[in-house]
Amino acid sequence: MTDVLAAAKLVVIKVGSSLLVDAETGTLRREWLKSLAADIAALKREGKDVVLVSSGAIALGRRALKLKPGALRLEESQAAAAAGQVRLAGAWAEVLRGEDMTAAQVLLILDDMEHRRRYLNARATLKTLLQLGAVPVINENDTVATSEIQFGDNDQLAARVASMMEADCLVLLSDVDGLYTANPGLDAGAEHLPEVPVITPEIEAMAGGSVSGFGRGGMTSKIIAAKIAVVAGSDVVIAKGKTLNPIAAIRGGGRNTRFFASESPAAARKRWIGGVLHPQGVLIIDDGAVRALKSGSSLLPAGIRQIDGRFERGDAVIIRDQNGMEIARGLTAYGAGDAERIAGKKSLEIEAILGYPGRDEMIHRDDLTLTVDA
Ligand code: GLU
Repeated sequence: MTDVLAAAKLVVIKVGSSLLVDAETGTLRREWLKSLAADIAALKREGKDVVLVSSGAIALGRRALKLKPGALRLEESQAAAAAGQVRLAGAWAEVLRGEDMTAAQVLLILDDMEHRRRYLNARATLKTLLQLGAVPVINENDTVATSEIQFGDNDQLAARVASMMEADCLVLLSDVDGLYTANPGLDAGAEHLPEVPVITPEIEAMAGGSVSGFGRGGMTSKIIAAKIAVVAGSDVVIAKGKTLNPIAAIRGGGRNTRFFASESPAAARKRWIGGVLHPQGVLIIDDGAVRALKSGSSLLPAGIRQIDGRFERGDAVIIRDQNGMEIARGLTAYGAGDAERIAGKKSLEIEAILGYPGRDEMIHRDDLTLTVDA
């Protein structure tokens, strides 16, 4: 059995509430948390970046606020999340500090992922945290999320984070050790599937509607999450996390189901950029910039001759040469107004012109896809 994490550079680990919080007492499973922190430290020592997506706020908060057992009203869940999140973040900060790592809390809602400016800001912040050696600990911002803007469960949130960060591997730790051909609780003949090369309708049907007692994610939500992640270029591992050192257990050959990424994260992102249906603007660039783009460079403001359209920072735009031929598509680092002001200018002049230090590139090469042959 190959170690699924061996080649990964960026790993997103999602931890379900049932692993973090003891079902009997409603308290944190601190020894387990410490063991996961040790696993994360081991990944970091191998040079990998790790992003944690942790549930557990509502489960912890309901105890802190002495809420009655059973279903909670929306406002009660949101209140529980507020009381629980501070405890959850505190616990992560403590166990990660025990391994010489710094936890950094990031709370997101679906809107943050769909609103391009906020998406870019979240992505840039997370990248900066990783560069600084921190471990981002992400949860849904349950207190402000209403049903229309909820991820619904952290499986999906983790998949969106994996896609946003171009992670190579998403590990969903929960109370099940993977996908079975049928519900193993109901069907004695259910067989475990160690690998899922492609998520077919049959695979989706196998997930059924199984839901665990804690948290909101069942197998169905894990398959939805896996679909989001694999098309974004991330492998997905579903594994049982209950034992101490759950990541080491997976790496040592413990039972899990692995879903395979359909392509690399960078390729998936480029394909997505190239396929944006409604670019918001057009940048006309000079011949030098055309050559630079074809050789894999970023688009600098200096090479831009003309700007058309009303677009905001982060919007997709088409890049054309001076004959009107489409060369590339990309996500612009500046809105149309600022882009107009710095077009044709050197990157060094950007701060003086705009009054703030912006990016050197109009479109960074990571955000650019050639649509002609180089
Ligand atoms: N965000 C919720 C919490 O922290 C958990 C959602 C889920 O269970 O997936 O309590």
